[in-house]
Parts: sequence; structure tokens; C-alpha cells
Amino acid sequence: MSPLLQRFFSKSEPEVREPVKENPLIPLFEQLLKEGSASSKLEIQKEVLREYQAGSHRHVEIAAVATYLQIEEYLIKHDSRYRNTKENLRASVSQQFPEVNQFLSFQLLTHPEEAQEILLAQLFVRTTLERFAQMPAFAKAAKIWLSTLNFEPLPEGKLQRIDHIRQLRKIGEKSYEIQKDLEDEQNAQVIQKVFQDTHAYFLTAFKTLKTTRILKNLLPDGLDTIIEKSMVVPKRPTPDVPKSLKTVSRNRLNGSTAAVHKAMLENLLDAYMLFDAQGSILEVNDLAPQVFGCDRDELLRQSIFDLLPQEISKSLAADLRNTSPGTVKKILGTRVETTIHEEDDLMDIELTFTNNYSEVFDTYTVLIRNISNKKDSLKAIEEVKANAERTAKAKSTFLSNMSHEIRTPLNVILGLSDIISNSDLSDETILRKNLEGISFSAENLLTIVNDILDFSKIEAGKLSIQEMDFNLQKAIDNLANGFGIKAREKGLTLKSNVAEDIPEVVIGDQYRINQILVNLVGNAIKFTKEGSISVNVRKKKEDGDQIHLEFEVSDTGIGIPRDQLERIFESFYQVEHPESAKIKGTGLGLAITKELIALQGGSLEANSTVGQGSAFCFTLPLKKSKLKAVDTNKTVSGRKDEELRGLRILVAEDNNMNQFYIKQLLNKLEIIVDIAENGKEAVEMFEKADKQYDLVLMDMHMPIMNGLEAVEHIRKSNRNTMKKIPIVACSADVFPEARKKAVKAGIDFYLTKPLSEESLKEVLFWLIGNELEEPSFSLTQNPKYSLEEGVEKSTTLDMNLLNETFDHDEEFIISLLEVFVKDTPDDYTSLRHCIDREFHSRATALAHKMKSSFMNLGLTQHGYHLQKMEQLLAQGKRLDEVKQHLEAFGAIYSKALLEVNVTLIDLKHK
Ligand code: ADP
Repeated sequence: MSPLLQRFFSKSEPEVREPVKENPLIPLFEQLLKEGSASSKLEIQKEVLREYQAGSHRHVEIAAVATYLQIEEYLIKHDSRYRNTKENLRASVSQQFPEVNQFLSFQLLTHPEEAQEILLAQLFVRTTLERFAQMPAFAKAAKIWLSTLNFEPLPEGKLQRIDHIRQLRKIGEKSYEIQKDLEDEQNAQVIQKVFQDTHAYFLTAFKTLKTTRILKNLLPDGLDTIIEKSMVVPKRPTPDVPKSLKTVSRNRLNGSTAAVHKAMLENLLDAYMLFDAQGSILEVNDLAPQVFGCDRDELLRQSIFDLLPQEISKSLAADLRNTSPGTVKKILGTRVETTIHEEDDLMDIELTFTNNYSEVFDTYTVLIRNISNKKDSLKAIEEVKANAERTAKAKSTFLSNMSHEIRTPLNVILGLSDIISNSDLSDETILRKNLEGISFSAENLLTIVNDILDFSKIEAGKLSIQEMDFNLQKAIDNLANGFGIKAREKGLTLKSNVAEDIPEVVIGDQYRINQILVNLVGNAIKFTKEGSISVNVRKKKEDGDQIHLEFEVSDTGIGIPRDQLERIFESFYQVEHPESAKIKGTGLGLAITKELIALQGGSLEANSTVGQGSAFCFTLPLKKSKLKAVDTNKTVSGRKDEELRGLRILVAEDNNMNQFYIKQLLNKLEIIVDIAENGKEAVEMFEKADKQYDLVLMDMHMPIMNGLEAVEHIRKSNRNTMKKIPIVACSADVFPEARKKAVKAGIDFYLTKPLSEESLKEVLFWLIGNELEEPSFSLTQNPKYSLEEGVEKSTTLDMNLLNETFDHDEEFIISLLEVFVKDTPDDYTSLRHCIDREFHSRATALAHKMKSSFMNLGLTQHGYHLQKMEQLLAQGKRLDEVKQHLEAFGAIYSKALLEVNVTLIDLKHK
């Protein structure tokens, strides 16, 4: 041994009984000194000497290890052979010199950081006690402490975080207990001083270890912050509690920790259960029975394993069987999410299992937190996200499909028009064939555009359903005839059947029902390669004046996979059939169809088997009609074309093609047409016209002056004839906003493009014809039939009045009733139609005309509602009230019509 080391160890404190010569560290130091280079040896010698001369080491063991650490640090820093070899060096030292392992202070060097913290803390408590044992005032108590001090050994293998925290906490408590046990008023400061000195000593001896920061937690209250301020180690945040308060609270708590803990468990926001290694539940808080839907006693009789889902119980049981420290746990010390039954529902929960490391016998805790809301929100967010992604994808597919769909007929129209214009126009058959092709493609295009419009109207909640008498059998026949040709072209058969017990005429929205069937039959033909398509209508039930019909469109086509049956009703959705890759569509048809059915109070269902075919079935509640037949040949107004002959109409339209088309249409009816290129020209022509116009047909979108402005100009004119001229707006804008603006500007009628001959004629008859002239025999002046509020009114036909008024002229009365039966259903339909579409001036005129017809027969309640409608419509306000009167009128109208019919039969068969 070098003389230096000799001196060093012989100078150890006298209380250390260990003989210097036998100190197992001496060979180690000799070895290390041999290892070092000449200069390093010199440095080490200096260092050790300095330590020795300072006389600060009181404990040889720590002093020796401290010396080792200095040598180690020196070698690692100054000798390149030792760079980054700290762990290896310690491992090889403990292997080569196994004796050093008996020193706790050396052992701690060979442990990973967390275990090192524990060992250092143990060493600190021990050393502090040993110092107290040297002081007469504390010797007795300190020695008792030393003899009973029993720290838990470190577990083998990796130290789990929970074990680490728990052990440190226990050492901390021990330190606190020691301090309290030794403390009385006078020597509190002495005690603090001992702790402080030991702490300073440890910081010096183990200065190269990061783990010394843990020692601060073992110091008496107050000292930790004083020391913290003077320490260079990183700060740990401490709660901002005044120190004196902290001490007071701790002291107060001392006697009542159990009560505080109990209160804490009861007030937890989670359910809490304490159980033993056998799974028996020992303690629960108030929330726990609520989670499991039983009472506290019942819960306390149960085993934890029976309450939890099987998988979790299994893992827990395995952990409880194997509790030795250091073994990896499946579930203890972790959080798991699972579901448990809660009455008829499932509850999402999070479980936290902990081992309490309780002293007398093993206990464990589980905390149960209801996370259903969190799960639900997450699920909802995911669903919204998935939906948004699906819609975005569907919309982009839709756009590409749409441009294909629109381009196809447009290309046909352009191609065929080219053929016609390049031909010599002499072959009439070729000409007709090409024109048919153009017309077919144009109609196709219109259907697509209408689909898109319907779809946007449905999305905006703007689509309304009309009611009209219509011949169902005929509607189905027309459909079957129309699609029959298409089906035959594909080699398919199309059959249709309307059950015999269904009346010929029903009340409903014929246009929308037709649209639904066109969509379904169109799809059936599109997705069927061979076989047949059937359309069947059956009566499901009748109640009161309602008749519920079931429509079924079935095919023998490619079918739809079961998992996609619901999704085909989503807008833009299309099934990816390998066979139908080339079949294009918009994916809107069924979405619109389903909505249209729902708007009419029905529902749509689909059944399908892949490879065998599909069946689409929907029910609709329709109304029974009083009519036996509907004359489908006459126009709505029942007028003859000749009546329009000679009329003079000003057409304001900027598009040449449209000018050409409207001119041809009107010329065919022998109407004189003047064309204005824009609104300004229209106003000028109108003002200059030496001959008066009977009507203006006004396009709404024109350059220079648009239709709206032109209408406003005309309506503001000083000339009376000009002010009152009927104006029909003509626009491709189908949205209600555009319609409303036009009505506000003063139009009488709004027609949407493309103009059909039928709709144009219908408007011309309404506006120009004189059918609205009031009958000369109006009775509205008779005080008996007052329409004043408060005067009792009648809903039944007054034969006495008729006989009295018409002098018992039965023939005249029969013809009067016949006119009533013939005209009022159409008038009523028109009135509804005009009110729905906001054709106010037409609706006012109709209400006025109908009022007379009803008052003539003594139907004063009907007359009252019609008068109200007329007044309100004329003022152009309170449209909700107008609708209420219309509803009230509708509710009593059928009864009146029936009564008049019955009376008519009676009179005729007298
Ligand atoms: P489109 O036919 O314009 O694509 P639809 O909304 O009418 O749009 O139909 C959506 C999808 O439903 C179609 O693309 C098709 O995959 C499927 N489908 C509809 N009707 C049938 C049918 N009768 N047979 C097989 N598949 C059908």
C-alpha cells in the first residue's frame, strides 16, 4: 500500500472500528493508482491528500467511496483510455474486488439511477442516525432507531416506477419520524444542524452523482428550501404553501390521517374498491355500488373477479398470484379501458389497478371511471369525420360523373345538328331520325339538370307537393308504354298491373309520383341484362278519405350487395358492380326518390339478391277523389286554341335561339309577335306602340336592362293600359328567390324555361281569356248571406235559396249545379297551385270567381274563406293566413261537392 493511502485510512475517524489494514478498498485504490499514468497518479495523490487534510470525512466507508469517485472522475476526464467507461469501471471493480460490495455506499454506484436514489436515501438516514448516536443528547433514541431500522431490500431486476416512488416515500416518512421522535423545543435546531451537515457531507462525497438531489426530500421542514436555495442541483417545483402552515397542517394531520383518507376516498369522482389477494372486496366508496347497480353490502359480498370482464379478471388473477417485486405485471399499476353492462346498456370505463404494498397483508385498489361520454364524443367526432370524407369523395365522383352525363347528350345534339346542317335536307326520313335523336338527348339533358335542381331544392327544404285529381291507371299505362320501348330495345319485358280495387281517379301529386316511378323503372332497366321488369300497384288499406297504395318495381337484374342496400339511398352513392362499371349515373336518383316519397308521407324499401334481381317498394297515402274520371284530353282551362288567334304579344328576349323558338310557338297559334332584344328596347317599343299589346313575355336575364327593371318601368308608367298589361316572366332560374323578386316587381305569372307549348297556352288562356267574369246573378249583396265576421255561416247547399232566386226553374238550377261540379274542382286545384307558387294576381281572381259560385248555392262558410283569401291576396300580405283559409276551405270543400253531386242526381232522376 502506498504511504499516502496508509496515511489516509489510518486517519479515519476513531469510531469506525474497522481495522485500516483490512479495508477492502485499499487494494482497489492501489490498483487504480497503478492504472493511471504518471501525471494522473500525481493528481490523484493530490486530491486524496486534500481530502485527507481537510479532515471532513467522518466515515471511512463514505470517504473511501468518495475517493473512489474522485479517482474515477479524474480517470474518465483526463485519461482517454477511460472515456465513457464509468459503468464498466464500476462493474469491473465490483467483480475484481468483491469485498467492496459489502459497502452500501459502493453498492449504490453499481445500480441504475432509480435504485441508486433509494440506496443513497437509505444511506443518508443511516448516516444521520449514526451521527445522532455520537451525541449524548440523542444517543439512546438514535441507537434504538439504528437497531430497528429495517429498509426493504431492492427487488431483483428492473425497479418498477411504482416501487421506486413507494420506497422513497417510506424512507422519507422514516426520516420525518426520526426527526419528530428526537425533537423537542430546545434541540430542534441542533437536529436540523445534524441533518444539514450530513446533507452537505453527502453532497461533497457523492458530488459526481446526480442522484444526490433526492436527499433534499429527507430534510426537516424548512431546511429543504434553505438548502435548495444554496444548492446547484436543478430545482424541483414545490407547492406554494407557507412553510409554517405546511408544518401546522402536517402536525394536525398526524392523528387523523385515516379519517382524511376515508373522506378523500368517499369524495373521489371515481368509484373505488379495495380488495385482497383472493379478490374479496374489503372496502368501497359510495360510487362503486352505483356503477355496478347493487347496494354496498351486496358489493362487499362479491369477488372482484366476478365483477370485471373475463379477460381483465384473468390478468388480475395472474398478477395477484405473482406479486414478488420486480416481476412484470399484466395489469397491476396500469390503466385499462373496457365496457361493463349497465342495465340494458353498455358503459365504457377506465380501470386503474394498484398494489398498495400494505404492511399487514396485501391489499389492492381499483379505481373505476365512467368514460362513456368521452368515448361517445370520440365516436361522434369519428363519425362526423368519416361522413365528411365520404361526402367529399362522393361529391367529387359526382362531379366527374356529372360532366360525363351532361357531355354525352350534348355531344349527340351537336353531332346530329352537324349532320343535319351538312345534309341537303332532302331526305325526310334521315332528317326526322336525326331530329328525334336531338330531341331524345335534349330531354335526357333536361332530366339530369332537373335532378340536380330537385336535389338542391330538397336539400334546401324548398320542394313542395301538389294535390290534384289524376287517373292512376292511365299514369301507369303511360309509364309502361314509354319505358316499354326502351325495355324491348334491351330484350327485356316490362309488365305493369294496377289492382282492380283501386279507384281510377285519386288525389295526389301526379308529377312527383311519375318522377319516382321513372327513376325506379329507369334504374331497373339500366341494371338488368335479361329477364323482366314489373310495376305493380296494390291497395294496402283505406281509412276515411285516404287510400294507402303500395307500389313495387322489381327486376331480374344484377342486384345489390346486402351491405350496400341502405347506402344506395345516400346522395351520390353508387354501388361498384364490376359489370356495371360502364353504366353511368349521378347517384342522385334514389336520394331524390326517397325524399319525394317521404315528402308525400310514404316510405321506400329495397330488397335485393345479387345475381337475381331487386325490388323497390314504397307506400303512399293518397286521397280518394269524388271524380269518376279525369278528362286528360282537355287543357286545364278547357279552351280552344282559336281563342288566342290575333293576340299581339311583345316578347323581350336576347337569345336568338329562344326568340326563334318562341316566335314559332306563338305564330303557330296565329299570335302576332314583336321581339325586343333587351329590357330597354321592350320599354321603348311598348311606349311607342301605336297598337296595344295584349301581353308581355319577359325574359329576366338580359343585357342593358334586365327583365326586373323593365317590369318596374312598365308598372310605374303613367299610362293606365301600360300599367295593367299582363306580364309573364320567363326565366331559367327555378329558385323561389328569383320568383319572389319577379312577383314583387309586378309580374302576373312566372314561367320556367324551357317553355313548353302547353304551359304557355295555359297562361295565355288564364290571363287573356275572359273566364273570370263574374256571373251576373251574384247574391253576395243579400244581407241573409252576409260574410261579416260573427254572422253564422252555412256549409250546406241551400235549395230554398236556389228555388227562390231562380223561380223554381229546375232546368236552370241543374245547369248551374253542373257548371259548379265541372268547374270548381279545376278552379280549386288552380287556386292551390297559384297560392303555392305565389301567383298572387291569378289567385286573387280565382278566389273572387269561386266566391260567387259558392255564395250562389248558399255555401256561405266556403264563401267566407274565399273572400278572406281574396282580400289578403289583393293586399299581398299575410300569406300564412291565406294558407290557413285555403286549408279550412279544403276541409269543407269535398263535402259540398258531394252534396251538390247527390242533389244533381236527385234532380235529374225526379
Ligand atoms: P344512379 O342510377 O344515377 O347511379 P341512383 O341513386 O338511382 O343513381 O342509384 C344509386 C345506385 O344504386 C346505382 O348506381 C346502382 O349501383 C344501385 N341501383 C339502383 N337501382 C338498382 C337496381 N334496380 N339494380 C341494381 N342496382 C341498382
